[in-house]
Amino acid sequence: MTRPESAFNEPLGRGLYIVATPIGNLGDITMRAVDVLRRCDAIACEDTRVTGKLLAHLGIDTRMLRYDDHASEDQRDRLLERASNEAIALVSDAGTPLISDPGYRLVSEARAAGIPVTTIPGVSAAIAGLTISGLPTDRFVFAGFLPVKDKAKGDMLSELAGIAGTLIFYETGPRLTRSLEMIASLWPKRQVAVARELTKLHEECRSGSASELSDYYTAHPPKGEIVLLVGPPVEEDARHDPDALLREALADLSPSKAAAKVAKSTGIDRQTLYARAVELKS
Ligand code: SAM
Repeated sequence: MTRPESAFNEPLGRGLYIVATPIGNLGDITMRAVDVLRRCDAIACEDTRVTGKLLAHLGIDTRMLRYDDHASEDQRDRLLERASNEAIALVSDAGTPLISDPGYRLVSEARAAGIPVTTIPGVSAAIAGLTISGLPTDRFVFAGFLPVKDKAKGDMLSELAGIAGTLIFYETGPRLTRSLEMIASLWPKRQVAVARELTKLHEECRSGSASELSDYYTAHPPKGEIVLLVGPPVEEDARHDPDALLREALADLSPSKAAAKVAKSTGIDRQTLYARAVELKS
């Protein structure tokens, strides 16, 4: 049985409605999302200009309220207070709220307070990218945005190294090639895909090794929004784990120089590598 929202033209039941919106192509809004956005009492959104454009396109004039995860506790409490008596929709600028977007605290506190929470599912860039990447879909990990700084990025990649599934990251154009370079140095043989501008005019998905893609995007700096996907481990990965890279470097270099070399290529913290290089040397 489907879950009815109450008949059209009747008010929606009280509670919080988590409403997915398109990630580019406005045709991806669901009928149920349109219905809830039209009939709810207010729409909590990250940016009223962005959501305002979507509502104007849909001919909806429901009142908007600003909400993001930096909202003060007072603001959150006020929104929860309203959701305990009225129907409040939560949307983000694009895609599914809470997925690298605001809403987690709001939903968690709404549930703790016994406020009904309903999902109106739809697009998410992570899943859209996975479905066209050609990479295994039976097991995957969505890891959100890769950190900006090399050290944090290297730490995150090392943490995810052993996962036997596809890794999905959100990425931005200016940072893509550095991420690909670091992936190439850690996992040169894994299949990688870059899914860009999904559902938009210039949608594309390129796949290859990380170094092939890094060369391509160095020559053609990517514009727009990006999902970066990395296939599961392959046997050769073992030869490129930090210990293997350190051992190789230690054949000709001191622990300090070996650590510096591996830190540069992988982004892993130099001090951590130095301590490990000393251990390996002895
Ligand atoms: N909540 C959204 C979702 O469910 O997809 C994601 C929001 S997150 C702040 C924005 C990131 O999602 C972008 O930096 C990009 O990595 C990815 N993204 C959003 N729209 C995209 C698109 N049309 N094509 C590729 N990636 C997209």
